[in-house]
Amino acid sequence: MSLRAELVEACRKVYEKDFVAAYAGNLSARIDAERILITPSGKCKGEVAEDDLLVIDNYGNLVEGKGKVSTEAKIHLLAYNKRDDVNSVIHCHPVYATGIATSGEGMTTPVFPEVVLGLGKIPLCKYATPSTEELPESMKPYIEYSWAMLLENHGAVTFGADIQGAYYRMELLEHSAKTLYAARTFGREKTIPLLKLKELYSIAEKTYGIRIDGRARMDY
Ligand SMILES: [Zn+2]
Repeated sequence: MSLRAELVEACRKVYEKDFVAAYAGNLSARIDAERILITPSGKCKGEVAEDDLLVIDNYGNLVEGKGKVSTEAKIHLLAYNKRDDVNSVIHCHPVYATGIATSGEGMTTPVFPEVVLGLGKIPLCKYATPSTEELPESMKPYIEYSWAMLLENHGAVTFGADIQGAYYRMELLEHSAKTLYAARTFGREKTIPLLKLKELYSIAEKTYGIRIDGRARMDY
């Protein structure tokens, strides 16, 4: 499947899953060291076609395509410019994850084993005015290690080595936020004890060959 087809498929999925509404959200993938494929501004993700996708450079200049570059491209550029292990970025406004971000909280305690292994600590980036430089600035304290972030009063961002990786992180993030919401209707979630956390890392590495590096794990 071509990169364009893969990105369009991810657009459909985030729209069908209700991770975005109307024209919200943007998805991108790195083509090579100098070029990035990204969704245009003002287009519903459920209706994006391959020809609508834009090619931009590392500074956000339009290289190819007819649409308008989103002001939120800054979110993507920060990740590509700071991380050579990131080849896809997905930014959405999923209801539960954004709900938590709006309450002024990150998801920084170890609650679900698959989140500990797949997403690590999920920080909350301080509220920033959309379209301004404040937005990437708010992500800078966490960009070096994070695979998923919450943006205060705004939404969520996930990163991947490829489009599928970034997409599944967004799906896992929203599912976990929703489960957290359910847990809180019963009281308050319990966190995984430190000793059990160490056991989890050890089993993941030995049994499943999942390599947990310091960046993904980020000590709780
Ligand atoms: Zn947004």
